Amino acid sequence: AEWSETWTYIDGGWRSGNEPVLGPRSHAFWQGSSVFDGARAFEGVMPDLDLHCARVNRSAVAMGLAATMAAGEIAELAREGVAKFAAGTAVYIRPMYWAEEGGFMGVDPLAASTRFCLCLYETPMPAPTGFTATISSFRRPSYEVAPTDAKAGCLYPNSGRALREAKARGFENAIMCDMLGNIAETATSNLFLVKDGKVATPVPNGSFLNGITRQRTINLLRAAGMDVAETQLRPRDFLEADEVFSTGNYSKVVPVTQIDGRHFQPGPVMAKARELYWDFAHG
Ligand code: PMP
Repeated sequence: AEWSETWTYIDGGWRSGNEPVLGPRSHAFWQGSSVFDGARAFEGVMPDLDLHCARVNRSAVAMGLAATMAAGEIAELAREGVAKFAAGTAVYIRPMYWAEEGGFMGVDPLAASTRFCLCLYETPMPAPTGFTATISSFRRPSYEVAPTDAKAGCLYPNSGRALREAKARGFENAIMCDMLGNIAETATSNLFLVKDGKVATPVPNGSFLNGITRQRTINLLRAAGMDVAETQLRPRDFLEADEVFSTGNYSKVVPVTQIDGRHFQPGPVMAKARELYWDFAHG
């Protein structure tokens, strides 16, 4: 594969390119014991970098790994790494932990074998035009059946098959329900709807990632005097909404322009949320 400019901090130094870090016996390779986070540098800012660094440490501990780096240390390395790119480059910042070895039968990740890397790569910001989505036949797992309290690599093949199904249906993203049939999130981001000027978003119940961009957007909208309800929402609530938008660190705040047969215009509340986020990001 051809990779965009990539820098990885591992074992005390920076390496360029897609540095190999796993062997065939590495636990993460065959048992999926990796956690990661994603933050962005764009337009000269790195919004909520500290929160993303703190979350990757919580994910590590939730997966039975050791958080071997202080969150502040990770953020400092991220700033150091971003400075290696030409000024103004949009960079994706991905800290990761994984286990090299497992305990009983090799299955339980051994905290003592935890490794860390911080991978940075050039990733342009997507256009603000948003995306289309279909309501997936695949569901988000609950905490009882998957480590949903970690942002873990092992959760993503489920999102991957939902994206494949969506693509086969002619859509760009997948909207996934939880096991009870409530809307959870897309395969890659959180969801909001607007109905009669009021904003609503699924209430975190352990089945989806309570995104940092989601929490930031809720706080910004509330501080601007808007009503934001965190509540149980069904597919019908989204299909009958005036506006639907998505939040996530990768694309930030973008409209959902279609859900199955229903088309949406990018609306004023989405535009306001996007503007509030940009103002916040630029301090
Ligand atoms: N849900 C999923 C499944 C994700 O992968 C992401 C991206 N990290 C999000 C939601 C959005 O989370 P955040 O705002 O913290 O990036």
